[in-house]
Amino acid sequence: MQNKKRIAIFGSTGSIGTQALEVIRANQDLFEAEILTAQTNADLLIAQALEFKPNAVVIGDESLYKKVKEALAATGTKVFAGEKALEDVADFDTYDFMLAAIVGFAGLRPTLKAVEKGKAIGLANKETLVVAGDIVMQRAYEKRAPIIPVDSEHSAIFQCLVGEGRNKIDKIILTASGGPFLGKKPNFLVNVKRDHALQHPNWAMGAKITIDSATLMNKGLEMIEAKWLFNLEPEQVQVIVHPQSVIHSMVQFEDGSIKAQMGVPDMKLPIQYAMAFPNRIKNDFPRFDFRKYPNLGFEEADVKTFRNLALSTEALFKGGNMPCILNAANEIAVWAFLRNRIGFLDITAVVEKTMHHTTFIEKPSLEQYFETDGEARNFAASLMKL
Ligand code: NAD
Ligand code: MG
Repeated sequence: MQNKKRIAIFGSTGSIGTQALEVIRANQDLFEAEILTAQTNADLLIAQALEFKPNAVVIGDESLYKKVKEALAATGTKVFAGEKALEDVADFDTYDFMLAAIVGFAGLRPTLKAVEKGKAIGLANKETLVVAGDIVMQRAYEKRAPIIPVDSEHSAIFQCLVGEGRNKIDKIILTASGGPFLGKKPNFLVNVKRDHALQHPNWAMGAKITIDSATLMNKGLEMIEAKWLFNLEPEQVQVIVHPQSVIHSMVQFEDGSIKAQMGVPDMKLPIQYAMAFPNRIKNDFPRFDFRKYPNLGFEEADVKTFRNLALSTEALFKGGNMPCILNAANEIAVWAFLRNRIGFLDITAVVEKTMHHTTFIEKPSLEQYFETDGEARNFAASLMKL
């Protein structure tokens, strides 16, 4: 049976990565794990490798190489370590599909390598498109590397577009849960601490995206991600708060018709959809029941309170390296917030100041995106005295 899809999971120990392995475990006739990677969680990476017997694993933190190597010595799994090794294994011929599930800017280089190889990519790592969406999408087009979104909103839009051929999109409407602080005002938010912000009402996710969901930066990043994925103008991307997270997003076509994709909030569905595309696979995930949700609500996002959404809209319209600046400042500010070094509202202040102080470039090269990331991180870190 050599026609199983060989999956490389970059970020296999994370929230998306572990759920992807659940999908593989439940569909061993269709998928096998070819490459697994983790940054610091060596114990989980070892356990995953013992169960799924991949061809290769990468542990990002080089000080953990010996531990992983020894634990897998009796297996056929190759062990690599360090940042560069991520790109090296992304260059392997032996996988068919990369699940890009590393968090943050660190996902960009390995994902670009897979693009250059013309591999199919399931993209969870939205930061890749926020930072360098023009270059990534252009190279994917040239190399015929299909990019299938895993982010639930973008998976929804992608699913709504299947079968629509060249029919024109009027606009897309991204739904936002509103996060744990929906309806709150700055006098409340100023006192929010890490542990409270880590409680998301509808989704269990990694720490960084959970904070981004609480500040609404996640929705801002998703607007930029959508622009690149679906080749839209900024004004075609809209956001509506929908607290139940049942409608995962919508597309309105030229004739005014709106298509929505719905279901219970469960990331395994978009992960499985991307891995199996264009097929759908039967599963035992919980089913949506309309009788249990008599009221689906919709409201305007409060961008005066959740200013990250206003800032990311500004970056979306400005273009150039501005989304890259926004992303770098946000990554480092969220890092600091998670360590109780700054307050919740300081995240926005750091992002805003960094956007205004980092060199703007209208049409950056890939190298300039990397330079911008460095410059913005340094500036943001100096603001926070890190
Ligand atoms: P996570 O923090 O749970 O997992 C991140 C993974 O990346 C881990 O395996 C970790 O080892 C690895 N990693 C972290 N830093 C790294 C580095 N510097 N170099 C190499 N590897 C590194 O994150 P997550 O929630 O699974 O999110 C992953 C990506 O998917 C993010 O871009 C996120 O925005 C996106 N996403 C997640 C969800 C979700 O439900 N969790 C939904 C939509 C999109
Ligand atoms: Mg999302």
